[in-house]
Amino acid sequence: MEQTDFSGRAAQLDAQLAELDLTDRLALASRLGNAVFTTSLGIEDQVITAAIGLARLPINVSTLETGRLFAETVALIAETEERFDLSIKRYVPEQGDIDAYAAQYGLNGFYESVEARHACCHVRKLKPLAKALEGAQIWITGLRRGQSGNRATTPFAEYDADRNLLKINPLADWSLDQINAYVEREAVPVNPLHARGYPSIGCEPCTRAIKPGEPERAGRWWWENDEKRECGLHVHEAASAIPQPA
Ligand code: SF4
Repeated sequence: MEQTDFSGRAAQLDAQLAELDLTDRLALASRLGNAVFTTSLGIEDQVITAAIGLARLPINVSTLETGRLFAETVALIAETEERFDLSIKRYVPEQGDIDAYAAQYGLNGFYESVEARHACCHVRKLKPLAKALEGAQIWITGLRRGQSGNRATTPFAEYDADRNLLKINPLADWSLDQINAYVEREAVPVNPLHARGYPSIGCEPCTRAIKPGEPERAGRWWWENDEKRECGLHVHEAASAIPQPA
């Protein structure tokens, strides 16, 4: 399918999507072009996978199997496939990249510096993400405004100039209460770690439970001081600015 220029359409689509319910938002996204939803198996993403599966929407569901996920997250992939009768495509990092990273920084070098952490996320997440999005025109995400201050202005539709994609965030305006109600109503399987104090779940060595009253994403890369820390999937960093393992 030819790449479409969506750069001028995001604002119009944003207003259109705001008027729709979740299923209709996803259905509209699927009609715009080749659509890929990348799931982290977090609770928001489980809601989107459920909506795609229940409505049998033509959207490719993919996940980045970084090699450092919690066992509970890995188990949830198969459970979700079975529950919604769909397949979730796994994208894994290149072994050569992992070896090069380990040689330069050490396997767990991400604790030592922001540079090493970004390099690990680049190898285990950003490069596989680029593969998952190859040929896609629409990228669907589970970003929600309430997840962090950093995401407070998340639109329903935005143009990702770095990837020349239209990014659709169909849960942008959902509250956590709405998410929980949907999960209950549709019997959506969720990661058991959520009930153990992990509202946001990433790789095992980089995620810990939060204390009552802490922001939802406080348990991610907790040792870093930057309040806006992210893995780079949803912040536009020039590839050349991301330190590369040798
Ligand atoms: Fe590596 Fe941690 Fe990023 Fe996962 S979250 S890719 S383990 S630095």
